Amino acid sequence: STDATQVKPMRVLAVANQKGGVGKTTTAINLGTALAAIGERVLIIDLDPQGNASTGLGIDRRDRNRSTYDVLVGEAALRDAIVTTSVPRLHIAPSTLDLAGLELEVSSARDRAVRLRNAIGRLNDGHAEGTDYTYVLVDCPPSLNLLTVNAMAASDAVLVPLQCEFFALEGLSQLLKTVEQVKEALNPRLSIHGIVLTMFDARNNLSSQVVADVREFMGSKVYDTVIPRNVRISEAPSYGKPVLVYDLKCAGSDAYLRLATEVIQRERELATH
Ligand code: ADP
Ligand code: MG
Repeated sequence: STDATQVKPMRVLAVANQKGGVGKTTTAINLGTALAAIGERVLIIDLDPQGNASTGLGIDRRDRNRSTYDVLVGEAALRDAIVTTSVPRLHIAPSTLDLAGLELEVSSARDRAVRLRNAIGRLNDGHAEGTDYTYVLVDCPPSLNLLTVNAMAASDAVLVPLQCEFFALEGLSQLLKTVEQVKEALNPRLSIHGIVLTMFDARNNLSSQVVADVREFMGSKVYDTVIPRNVRISEAPSYGKPVLVYDLKCAGSDAYLRLATEVIQRERELATH
Protein backbone atom coordinates (compact mmCIF):
# COMPACT_ATOMS: atom_id res chain seq x y z
CA SER A 1 0.00 0.00 0.00
CA THR A 2 1.18 3.53 -0.71
CA ASP A 3 -1.33 5.03 1.71
CA ALA A 4 0.50 7.75 3.62
CA THR A 5 -1.37 6.87 6.80
CA GLN A 6 -0.22 3.27 6.66
CA VAL A 7 1.00 2.16 10.06
CA LYS A 8 4.43 0.66 10.30
CA PRO A 9 4.18 -2.94 11.45
CA MET A 10 5.04 -3.73 15.03
CA ARG A 11 7.99 -6.09 15.41
CA VAL A 12 8.34 -8.16 18.56
CA LEU A 13 11.83 -9.34 19.53
CA ALA A 14 12.62 -11.62 22.49
CA VAL A 15 16.00 -10.87 24.08
CA ALA A 16 16.86 -14.31 25.36
CA ASN A 17 19.67 -16.49 26.70
CA GLN A 18 19.22 -18.87 29.62
CA LYS A 19 22.58 -17.80 31.05
CA GLY A 20 22.49 -14.95 33.53
CA GLY A 21 24.79 -11.95 33.30
CA VAL A 22 25.38 -12.09 29.55
CA GLY A 23 23.87 -8.68 28.76
CA LYS A 24 20.20 -9.40 28.03
CA THR A 25 18.81 -6.60 30.16
CA THR A 26 21.57 -4.19 29.17
CA THR A 27 20.79 -4.93 25.53
CA ALA A 28 17.01 -4.59 25.97
CA ILE A 29 17.41 -1.20 27.69
CA ASN A 30 20.08 0.25 25.43
CA LEU A 31 18.96 -1.18 22.10
CA GLY A 32 15.48 0.05 23.06
CA THR A 33 16.83 3.50 23.85
CA ALA A 34 18.90 3.61 20.65
CA LEU A 35 15.90 2.58 18.54
CA ALA A 36 13.80 5.28 20.23
CA ALA A 37 16.58 7.83 19.66
CA ILE A 38 16.43 7.21 15.93
CA GLY A 39 12.68 7.63 15.81
CA GLU A 40 11.20 4.19 16.52
CA ARG A 41 8.40 3.85 19.07
CA VAL A 42 9.55 1.21 21.51
CA LEU A 43 7.97 -0.86 24.26
CA ILE A 44 10.12 -2.96 26.57
CA ILE A 45 8.29 -5.79 28.32
CA ASP A 46 10.10 -6.82 31.50
CA LEU A 47 9.61 -10.57 31.81
CA ASP A 48 12.28 -11.17 34.46
CA PRO A 49 11.02 -11.30 38.08
CA GLN A 50 14.25 -9.51 39.07
CA GLY A 51 12.93 -6.43 37.30
CA ASN A 52 16.36 -5.17 36.29
CA ALA A 53 15.08 -3.57 33.08
CA SER A 54 12.45 -1.69 35.10
CA THR A 55 14.99 -0.54 37.70
CA GLY A 56 17.56 0.30 35.04
CA LEU A 57 15.02 2.59 33.39
CA GLY A 58 14.35 4.34 36.67
CA ILE A 59 10.93 2.83 37.40
CA ASP A 60 10.54 2.87 41.17
CA ARG A 61 9.02 -0.29 42.69
CA ARG A 62 6.23 1.86 44.14
CA ASP A 63 5.27 2.91 40.62
CA ARG A 64 4.74 -0.66 39.45
CA ASN A 65 1.04 -0.73 40.36
CA ARG A 66 0.34 -3.04 37.49
CA SER A 67 3.04 -5.33 36.24
CA THR A 68 3.65 -8.04 33.70
CA TYR A 69 2.57 -10.50 36.43
CA ASP A 70 -0.90 -8.92 36.53
CA VAL A 71 -1.01 -9.08 32.74
CA LEU A 72 -0.04 -12.75 32.54
CA VAL A 73 -2.46 -13.88 35.26
CA GLY A 74 -5.19 -12.01 33.40
CA GLU A 75 -5.84 -9.29 35.95
CA ALA A 76 -4.69 -6.34 33.86
CA ALA A 77 -4.49 -5.38 30.23
CA LEU A 78 -0.96 -4.88 28.93
CA ARG A 79 -1.85 -1.31 28.01
CA ASP A 80 -2.67 -0.57 31.65
CA ALA A 81 0.70 -1.87 32.88
CA ILE A 82 2.73 0.35 30.55
CA VAL A 83 4.54 3.37 31.98
CA THR A 84 6.57 6.04 30.24
CA THR A 85 10.30 6.48 30.84
CA SER A 86 12.57 9.51 30.76
CA VAL A 87 13.41 8.58 27.17
CA PRO A 88 10.94 9.95 24.59
CA ARG A 89 9.21 7.16 22.59
CA LEU A 90 10.42 4.48 25.05
CA HIS A 91 7.83 2.84 27.30
CA ILE A 92 8.04 -0.17 29.61
CA ALA A 93 5.72 -2.73 31.12
CA PRO A 94 7.56 -3.32 34.44
CA SER A 95 7.88 -6.54 36.38
CA THR A 96 7.80 -7.40 40.07
CA LEU A 97 8.98 -10.41 42.05
CA ASP A 98 5.41 -11.82 41.86
CA LEU A 99 6.35 -12.98 38.40
CA ALA A 100 8.52 -15.72 39.93
CA GLY A 101 5.35 -17.51 41.05
CA LEU A 102 3.55 -17.31 37.72
CA GLU A 103 4.60 -20.68 36.35
CA LEU A 104 2.97 -22.59 39.21
CA GLU A 105 -0.14 -20.44 39.18
CA VAL A 106 -0.93 -20.96 35.53
CA SER A 107 0.46 -24.49 35.18
CA SER A 108 -2.93 -26.03 34.42
CA ALA A 109 -4.19 -23.27 32.11
CA ARG A 110 -4.39 -24.37 28.48
CA ASP A 111 -3.25 -20.96 27.23
CA ARG A 112 -0.33 -20.69 29.66
CA ALA A 113 2.32 -20.48 26.93
CA VAL A 114 0.54 -17.89 24.79
CA ARG A 115 -0.63 -15.44 27.41
CA LEU A 116 1.90 -12.80 26.46
CA ARG A 117 1.08 -13.18 22.78
CA ASN A 118 -2.62 -12.74 23.51
CA ALA A 119 -1.92 -9.71 25.69
CA ILE A 120 0.17 -8.09 22.94
CA GLY A 121 -2.56 -8.94 20.43
CA ARG A 122 -5.07 -7.01 22.54
CA LEU A 123 -2.80 -3.96 22.85
CA ASN A 124 -4.86 -1.97 20.38
CA ASP A 125 -8.32 -3.04 21.61
CA GLY A 126 -10.63 -0.08 21.95
CA HIS A 127 -8.02 2.28 20.58
CA ALA A 128 -8.71 3.09 16.96
CA GLU A 129 -5.44 4.95 16.69
CA GLY A 130 -3.47 1.92 17.79
CA THR A 131 -0.59 2.03 20.22
CA ASP A 132 1.76 2.55 17.30
CA TYR A 133 4.79 0.79 18.76
CA THR A 134 7.20 -0.20 16.02
CA TYR A 135 9.41 -2.36 18.26
CA VAL A 136 8.56 -4.45 21.29
CA LEU A 137 11.58 -5.90 23.11
CA VAL A 138 10.89 -8.64 25.64
CA ASP A 139 13.59 -8.91 28.33
CA CYS A 140 13.68 -12.60 29.30
CA PRO A 141 14.75 -14.21 32.58
CA PRO A 142 17.93 -16.35 32.74
CA SER A 143 16.08 -19.61 32.17
CA LEU A 144 14.25 -21.50 29.43
CA ASN A 145 11.12 -21.53 31.58
CA LEU A 146 7.49 -20.71 30.84
CA LEU A 147 8.24 -16.97 30.82
CA THR A 148 10.85 -17.34 28.09
CA VAL A 149 8.53 -19.67 26.15
CA ASN A 150 5.82 -16.99 26.42
CA ALA A 151 8.28 -14.43 25.06
CA MET A 152 9.25 -16.66 22.13
CA ALA A 153 5.65 -17.55 21.38
CA ALA A 154 4.84 -13.84 21.20
CA SER A 155 7.81 -12.80 19.08
CA ASP A 156 8.73 -12.46 15.45
CA ALA A 157 12.34 -13.24 16.23
CA VAL A 158 14.85 -13.90 18.99
CA LEU A 159 17.86 -11.68 19.65
CA VAL A 160 20.56 -13.55 21.57
CA PRO A 161 23.24 -11.71 23.56
CA LEU A 162 26.38 -13.84 24.01
CA GLN A 163 29.10 -12.78 26.40
CA CYS A 164 32.68 -12.90 25.06
CA GLU A 165 33.89 -15.48 27.56
CA PHE A 166 35.30 -18.97 27.41
CA PHE A 167 31.95 -20.77 27.69
CA ALA A 168 30.11 -18.42 25.32
CA LEU A 169 28.82 -21.15 23.03
CA GLU A 170 27.93 -23.50 25.85
CA GLY A 171 24.17 -23.64 26.12
CA LEU A 172 23.60 -22.04 22.74
CA SER A 173 22.51 -25.31 21.13
CA GLN A 174 19.97 -25.81 23.91
CA LEU A 175 18.66 -22.29 23.32
CA LEU A 176 18.41 -22.91 19.57
CA LYS A 177 16.59 -26.18 20.26
CA THR A 178 14.04 -24.36 22.40
CA VAL A 179 13.52 -21.83 19.60
CA GLU A 180 12.86 -24.76 17.21
CA GLN A 181 10.41 -26.35 19.66
CA VAL A 182 8.48 -23.12 20.17
CA LYS A 183 8.47 -22.61 16.42
CA GLU A 184 6.98 -26.05 15.81
CA ALA A 185 4.47 -26.08 18.63
CA LEU A 186 3.38 -22.47 19.01
CA ASN A 187 4.80 -19.96 16.57
CA PRO A 188 5.76 -20.95 13.00
CA ARG A 189 7.03 -17.46 12.13
CA LEU A 190 9.69 -17.42 14.85
CA SER A 191 13.27 -16.93 13.67
CA ILE A 192 16.66 -15.95 15.07
CA HIS A 193 17.08 -12.24 14.45
CA GLY A 194 20.71 -12.24 15.38
CA ILE A 195 23.43 -12.88 17.92
CA VAL A 196 25.10 -9.93 19.58
CA LEU A 197 28.49 -10.42 21.21
CA THR A 198 28.75 -8.47 24.46
CA MET A 199 31.42 -7.37 26.93
CA PHE A 200 34.20 -7.58 24.35
CA ASP A 201 37.60 -6.74 25.80
CA ALA A 202 40.11 -5.73 23.12
CA ARG A 203 43.04 -6.26 25.51
CA ASN A 204 42.07 -9.87 26.03
CA ASN A 205 43.04 -12.43 23.35
CA LEU A 206 40.30 -14.72 24.58
CA SER A 207 37.65 -12.16 23.63
CA SER A 208 38.90 -12.05 20.03
CA GLN A 209 39.04 -15.85 19.90
CA VAL A 210 35.45 -16.09 21.13
CA VAL A 211 34.31 -13.61 18.46
CA ALA A 212 36.07 -15.68 15.78
CA ASP A 213 34.58 -18.95 17.07
CA VAL A 214 31.05 -17.63 17.30
CA ARG A 215 31.27 -16.11 13.80
CA GLU A 216 32.53 -19.42 12.45
CA PHE A 217 29.74 -21.35 14.16
CA MET A 218 26.83 -18.96 13.54
CA GLY A 219 27.98 -17.12 10.39
CA SER A 220 25.89 -14.19 9.23
CA LYS A 221 23.50 -14.56 12.18
CA VAL A 222 26.10 -12.67 14.22
CA TYR A 223 25.72 -8.89 14.04
CA ASP A 224 28.77 -6.97 12.85
CA THR A 225 28.46 -4.74 15.90
CA VAL A 226 30.26 -6.07 18.96
CA ILE A 227 29.42 -4.45 22.31
CA PRO A 228 32.63 -3.56 24.19
CA ARG A 229 33.08 -4.04 27.90
CA ASN A 230 32.54 -0.48 29.02
CA VAL A 231 32.40 0.85 32.55
CA ARG A 232 29.82 3.50 31.64
CA ILE A 233 27.41 0.71 30.60
CA SER A 234 27.74 -0.93 34.01
CA GLU A 235 27.42 2.38 35.91
CA ALA A 236 24.31 3.66 34.12
CA PRO A 237 21.68 1.32 35.71
CA SER A 238 22.46 2.53 39.23
CA TYR A 239 21.37 6.00 38.06
CA GLY A 240 18.20 4.53 36.55
CA LYS A 241 19.38 5.62 33.13
CA PRO A 242 20.22 3.94 29.83
CA VAL A 243 23.89 4.43 28.94
CA LEU A 244 22.85 6.62 26.00
CA VAL A 245 21.36 9.08 28.50
CA TYR A 246 24.09 8.67 31.11
CA ASP A 247 26.97 9.22 28.68
CA LEU A 248 26.04 9.56 25.01
CA LYS A 249 29.67 9.93 23.94
CA CYS A 250 31.05 6.71 25.43
CA ALA A 251 31.99 3.61 23.44
CA GLY A 252 29.04 1.68 24.88
CA SER A 253 26.48 4.20 23.62
CA ASP A 254 28.14 4.26 20.22
CA ALA A 255 27.98 0.46 20.00
CA TYR A 256 24.27 0.28 20.89
CA LEU A 257 23.47 2.98 18.31
CA ARG A 258 25.28 0.93 15.68
CA LEU A 259 23.44 -2.20 16.79
CA ALA A 260 20.10 -0.39 16.43
CA THR A 261 21.00 0.63 12.89
CA GLU A 262 21.90 -2.97 12.09
CA VAL A 263 18.67 -4.31 13.59
CA ILE A 264 16.63 -1.92 11.44
CA GLN A 265 18.71 -2.83 8.39
CA ARG A 266 17.99 -6.53 8.93
CA GLU A 267 14.29 -5.75 9.17
CA ARG A 268 14.46 -4.03 5.78
CA GLU A 269 16.25 -7.00 4.27
CA LEU A 270 13.67 -9.40 5.68
CA ALA A 271 10.84 -7.20 4.37
CA THR A 272 12.22 -7.19 0.82
CA HIS A 273 12.75 -10.98 0.67
P1 ADP B 1 21.49 -10.41 31.99
O1 ADP B 1 20.26 -9.60 31.81
O2 ADP B 1 21.78 -11.31 30.83
O3 ADP B 1 21.50 -11.17 33.28
P2 ADP B 1 22.83 -7.87 32.36
O4 ADP B 1 22.47 -7.08 31.16
O5 ADP B 1 22.08 -7.57 33.61
O6 ADP B 1 22.76 -9.41 32.04
O7 ADP B 1 24.40 -7.69 32.59
C1 ADP B 1 25.05 -8.32 33.69
C2 ADP B 1 26.00 -7.32 34.34
O8 ADP B 1 27.01 -6.96 33.42
C3 ADP B 1 25.33 -6.04 34.75
O9 ADP B 1 25.90 -5.59 35.95
C4 ADP B 1 25.64 -5.07 33.63
O10 ADP B 1 25.68 -3.73 34.05
C5 ADP B 1 27.01 -5.55 33.19
N1 ADP B 1 27.24 -5.34 31.76
C6 ADP B 1 26.45 -5.74 30.74
N2 ADP B 1 26.98 -5.39 29.56
C7 ADP B 1 28.14 -4.74 29.83
C8 ADP B 1 29.17 -4.12 29.04
N3 ADP B 1 29.11 -4.12 27.72
N4 ADP B 1 30.20 -3.56 29.69
C9 ADP B 1 30.28 -3.58 31.03
N5 ADP B 1 29.37 -4.12 31.83
C10 ADP B 1 28.31 -4.71 31.25
MG1 MG C 1 18.51 -9.57 32.98
